[in-house]
Formats: sequence, structure tokens, C-alpha cells
Amino acid sequence: MDGATTPTAAPVLILLGPPGAGKGTQARMLEAAHGMVQLSTGDLLRAAVAAGTEVGKQAKAVMEAGGLVSDALVIAILRDRLAEPDCARGVILDGFPRTTVQAEALDTLLGEMGQRIDAAISLEVDDAAMVKRISGRFTCGACGEGYHDTFKPTITAGVCDKCGSTEMKRRTDDNAETVAQRLKAYHAQTGPLVAYYEDKGSLSRIDAMAPIEDVATALNVVVSEAIA
Ligand code: ADP
Ligand code: AMP
Repeated sequence: MDGATTPTAAPVLILLGPPGAGKGTQARMLEAAHGMVQLSTGDLLRAAVAAGTEVGKQAKAVMEAGGLVSDALVIAILRDRLAEPDCARGVILDGFPRTTVQAEALDTLLGEMGQRIDAAISLEVDDAAMVKRISGRFTCGACGEGYHDTFKPTITAGVCDKCGSTEMKRRTDDNAETVAQRLKAYHAQTGPLVAYYEDKGSLSRIDAMAPIEDVATALNVVVSEAIA
């Protein structure tokens, strides 16, 4: 059996789905429930842009336009992040891979690390829902908890339920024009990955049109089975 040769391999989960599908929301819930680390290439890139690093300078304009950052750059930041000690708890990939080249690079990288993908989970939503979700999204600037004006408001307006901070942020790329481009990029370049993982027998599909807690329950069943 696979597990006999890699008894300590940490679980690796992939969350697939268009922007606004709920990947980040669900990844944070999985992180809390299963102790794995959420690894969002979007968050890593935004941090690089904010810090003004060389990577950030190269990525900024593409991100603002709603395109995909180059495979080479994203694969490099993911490789560095996976090498950090906390990833030994297992990882939930959120927003990576987004192209076939990235998926193949991930297979190679995990192979080198003696790991493999335990499950690729596609969060399925329609495009209209995605636009509504993205246009109401905001995040706590202190702890990163995600909210939505309608679907997940804070209990007290403007105050984070988790940490009490009042520093709420909205993403600059969550605007109508950029969202249309991001959706286009998703259908052209990332959508085909659903078939890629289906062919490998590692795909599960989840109805992500359901409320957040219902999606979390369905996801938990798939994840518990995959990492058992
Ligand atoms: P992604 O990481 O896939 O881009 P997010 O997790 O940031 O998406 O979710 C986008 C927005 O939609 C957030 O404001 C979040 O609170 C909200 N949201 C996430 N899942 C659901 C859901 N199942 N129903 C309604 N709103 C949701
Ligand atoms: P996200 O936070 O996942 O919505 O990503 C925000 C933006 O970061 C995307 O619109 C892309 O420009 C860029 N990005 C994030 N992850 C990737 C990736 N895996 N490949 C290419 N670009 C990415």
C-alpha cells in the first residue's frame, strides 16, 4: 500500500473553483477543523505586492488586470512556501494549481517530497453567484477572517467576530471589470483541471451554491475520508 512507503506523508488537498466559489472560506474552516495549513497563492502574491518585492513588482499589473501571473513565478513561490516547517501538518491548496503546467509541476514537486494529492475538490457554483459573492466580499485586515455584506456579515458592523479588529479590507481586484477577466481566465485555463484530476481518479465535486455551513459539512465528509 502507498501508506506503507510514506507513513508520515502529510495530507495534500486541492480546492478548485472559480474566484468567489468559497475556497478561502472553506480552507480556513478546514484549517481549524483538521489542523492543516491553508496555502493561498493569491494571498502570497498580495503579500509580495504589499511588501514591494521583486515578485510583487512582476505580479502587480497582471493581478490588477485579472489575468494569471506567470507559471514560473507562481510555481517558485509555492515551492518555497511548501518547504516551510508548518506545511508538515498538511496543506490545503487554495487557488493553486490554476493551469495544467502548474498541476504538472505540483505532481513533480510532491513526488520529490514523497507526498501525493489526497483529494482535489471542485467547488461548483454558477457565474452569477460568483459575481454576487465577490462584490460583497471583505476581510479582516488583522486576522484574515473573510466576510460578506449579505451572506456572512459581522455580528457587530465593522468589527471582526474573531479578533475584534475594526480594520476591514476590500480587494482592489474585486471590481466588475476585473471580475469578468478573472472569470474568463478561470474558464479558459483553470476549468480544464477538473478533468485533469477526474482522469487521475482524485476528483470530488461539491455543490458550492449551498450556504457556507452546508458546503463545509459536505466538504468535511470528503476530506475526512481522503485523509483517513
Ligand atoms: P474564493 O476564495 O473562492 O475566491 P471566498 O471564500 O473569498 O472565495 O468567498 C467569496 C465571498 O463569498 C466571501 O465574501 C464569502 O464570505 C462568501 N461565500 C463563501 N462561500 C459562500 C456560500 N456558500 N454562500 C454564500 N456566500 C459565500
Ligand atoms: P485569488 O486570491 O486566488 O483570487 O488570486 C488573486 C489573483 O492572483 C489572481 O487573479 C491572479 O492574478 C493571481 N494568482 C493567484 N494564484 C495564481 C496562480 N496559481 N496562478 C496564476 N496567478 C495566480
